[in-house]
Amino acid sequence: MQSTNTTAEARRLLEICNACRYCEGYCAVFPAMELRRAFSNEDLSYLANLCHNCRGCYYACQYAPPHEFAINLPKTLAELRGETYVEYAWPRPFAVLFQSNGTVISIATAVGIAVTLLLTAWLKSPQALIQPHTGPGSFYEIISEKAMIGVALATTGFSLLALAIGAVRFWRDTGGGSVMNLRALQTAIRDVLTLKNLGGAGEGCNNRDEKFSQVRRRYHHALFYGFTLCMASTTVAAIYDHILGWPAPYSFFSMPVLLGSTGGLGMMIGTAGLYWLKIVGDPEPSARKLLGADYALLMQMFLAAATGELLLAFRDTSAMGILLAVHLGIIFSFFAFMPYSKFVHGIYRSAALLRNAQERLTVKNLAGSLE
Ligand code: SF4
Ligand code: SF4
Repeated sequence: MQSTNTTAEARRLLEICNACRYCEGYCAVFPAMELRRAFSNEDLSYLANLCHNCRGCYYACQYAPPHEFAINLPKTLAELRGETYVEYAWPRPFAVLFQSNGTVISIATAVGIAVTLLLTAWLKSPQALIQPHTGPGSFYEIISEKAMIGVALATTGFSLLALAIGAVRFWRDTGGGSVMNLRALQTAIRDVLTLKNLGGAGEGCNNRDEKFSQVRRRYHHALFYGFTLCMASTTVAAIYDHILGWPAPYSFFSMPVLLGSTGGLGMMIGTAGLYWLKIVGDPEPSARKLLGADYALLMQMFLAAATGELLLAFRDTSAMGILLAVHLGIIFSFFAFMPYSKFVHGIYRSAALLRNAQERLTVKNLAGSLE
């Protein structure tokens, strides 16, 4: 991790916090901080990604602006997280996509839609987009099965590889060991699934002001579990189509449709809620230069879910062709740019939680052996 003005500022703040320790019950960052006397850049990278941006420490802090110490940990750690996304990006030249990331993701989404519409009109026919298509295999009458599978495998395969390499870089850089402890893994999975660190000191985040609320955690859950259900829907549909020989579209009460429509609804609620919280939230503890990336990813995921629901509602009409092409254009752009969008925060935060669980276990075992 390179030294920057942000690493210097994060180090300054954490050194003050380490002397103060008033916020130690708020989240995992403070107990992890207390295990250190000095903060290397790698420690800062780990602590920045461990922070869930609940903002509790900002409103609790007696040294927050206008105090001369000007402690604003949520903002500084968020800015540092943004720098870690650049640091660990693979391939390295693609790290430039994190600059003006809101514009990059918005253009990628628009281009994804335009290219899918144009290619469909060119490879099939413009009429294929505006004619009604019904019955099993009707999606393939608009976009060929080979093209759909080829683009999906290429974008998803590349993105999963890029995300995995980024996660390994983060893990090595921040001192994660080569041995995976099962108990630490269980703890980290529980922390990820419950988003425990969005709970602040038990009463939630400070979204708009000093009042606590669980609403940000709920919206995150709706988005996370909605996305998971959509992935489950795609997996079941792939098994139906390519193993059992039952091509889409499926009935309203089939497993892929029930999973996908419920997941899509969850994603729409989660993304819209998080978007709204960003608009109405206090701007002081937020990293303004990262807001574009936040808004763009939320909008992209909302559109992916909303066009999926519209496709389900209008699949028996002449609107189906255009809706399918628009939906797939958004999905392809989402997966292609996943390693270069704010989506990466989930990967690095999960890795930081695993690193934290391992660290806590090591400290506990050490304390036990000294008794
Ligand atoms: S954020 Fe402020 S109150 Fe909290 S530990 Fe740091 S210096 Fe102390
Ligand atoms: S913003 Fe919340 S999660 Fe981040 S350091 Fe402060 S209390 Fe911890």
